[in-house]
Amino acid sequence: METKHLVVLGAGFGGLTFCQTFNHPDTRITLVDRQNHHLFQPLLYQVATAGLSAPEIAQPVRSILSNKPRVTVLLDSVVDFNLAEKKVALEKNTLSYDYLVLALGGVTSYFGHPEWEEFAPGLKSLDDALRIRRHVLLAFEKAENASGESERGRLMTIVVVGGGPTGVELAGAFAELARRVLKSDFRRIDPTQARIVLIEAGPRVLAHLPPKLSASAQRQLEKLGVEVRTGTKVKNISQGRVELENGQVIEAENILWGAGVSASSLTKKLGAELDRAGRVKVNPDLSLPGHPEVFAIGDMALVLDEEGKPVPGVSPAAMQMAKHVARIIRGELEPGRQSARPPFRYWDKGTMATIGRSAAVAKIGRIEFNGFLAWVAWLFVHLIFLIGFRNRLAVLLQWAYSYVAYKRGARIVTGLSEEAKHTGT
Ligand SMILES: Cc1cc2nc3c(=O)[nH]c(=O)nc-3n(C[C@H](O)[C@H](O)[C@H](O)COP(=O)(O)OP(=O)(O)OC[C@H]3O[C@@H](n4cnc5c(N)ncnc54)[C@H](O)[C@@H]3O)c2cc1C
Repeated sequence: METKHLVVLGAGFGGLTFCQTFNHPDTRITLVDRQNHHLFQPLLYQVATAGLSAPEIAQPVRSILSNKPRVTVLLDSVVDFNLAEKKVALEKNTLSYDYLVLALGGVTSYFGHPEWEEFAPGLKSLDDALRIRRHVLLAFEKAENASGESERGRLMTIVVVGGGPTGVELAGAFAELARRVLKSDFRRIDPTQARIVLIEAGPRVLAHLPPKLSASAQRQLEKLGVEVRTGTKVKNISQGRVELENGQVIEAENILWGAGVSASSLTKKLGAELDRAGRVKVNPDLSLPGHPEVFAIGDMALVLDEEGKPVPGVSPAAMQMAKHVARIIRGELEPGRQSARPPFRYWDKGTMATIGRSAAVAKIGRIEFNGFLAWVAWLFVHLIFLIGFRNRLAVLLQWAYSYVAYKRGARIVTGLSEEAKHTGT
């Protein structure tokens, strides 16, 4: 049998799981990603809030797949597709394929206001997390140097837009950083007076969870000192300034965007039907309409669950889709096993969000719980799924240390002298 070439685009949860799961002797796989690392996005907020350092939540794709001799990893960017000729254009290469698996994930979406990105960064990559961490830590340093109450107040205000899981996790962790970790480190300012405002346009935070858990999350946030403003719409964002639709203005050195995601903009080049978030409307087997040899999985794919609701953009869904596609392709490469492709079925294993030290909410099946128990469940689930033993051990030790000592290790800010050179200061 001639060797089939499988091209996998994106080494996130979907693409990586595909490469780890798929195994057939008559195939070779080329995996392409523009980053050299696989990123555990669910713990990105911990890097942004100085809880963990970057290597603890990322690992080189090459090293994860070093025991897979049939997989070639290319560090390159996807730029275009020619589905008719079964070709993918990368920045440095052009690849021909027999099967193509698209797993390019999503990007932060500003709901028609791309100009806000400059003033309110989103959290999607390690670079985003490190930039946010640096800017927030420097704001406290500037406040220690500032004269005047109002300037200090502005420097010590963090606004988080969006009450979904990312916004809730960020707001809770920043409140904890200010109130507990930085508490004794400054002399001219009192970090416990930092103002953390969480703005949500809808009536409740964590709207994907039952109302009881949303209410519990809000209570737990408020206990940490977060100002939670639900039913509040943002009208405009500019440098250090958030204007609300009710006419109020919040001056803040740090404004963070946790409100929306949309699919990779490359989906527009596929010629397929997309939904409002730019996701590709795939067939029930996850293939592209008219292209049975092309599959889209993870955050860039729109597929409905058994109740007719879109499968959520979460890592277990991306991993399950990858395994489904791997089974289909493997089946088709077996001589005499050309049966009809089964539809994808999403198995919802539950959902959880953490709010801070010992605080979280979780829903697993019909069971809903919150507080310490939910936090322990969150901790173990995230440790189990974190890729690589070294990372798991490092993260466990780091969490144990922060928990016992109320200290955080990842608070070093670098690059200040470089910045001074550029600004001439
Ligand atoms: C801050 C944050 C917190 C989250 N928390 C949770 C959580 O607690 N639980 C949960 O289940 N899910 C969570 N998610 C969602 C989860 O991370 C995604 O659902 C999951 O990563 C989707 O997997 P994917 O393979 O579709 O895309 P991704 O994992 O995003 O992977 C896409 C890959 O494609 C690469 N890529 C993109 N464009 C190009 C290009 N042009 N060329 C080459 N490579 C490219 C990227 O570098 C990336 O490696 C979170 C997401 C974020 C951002």
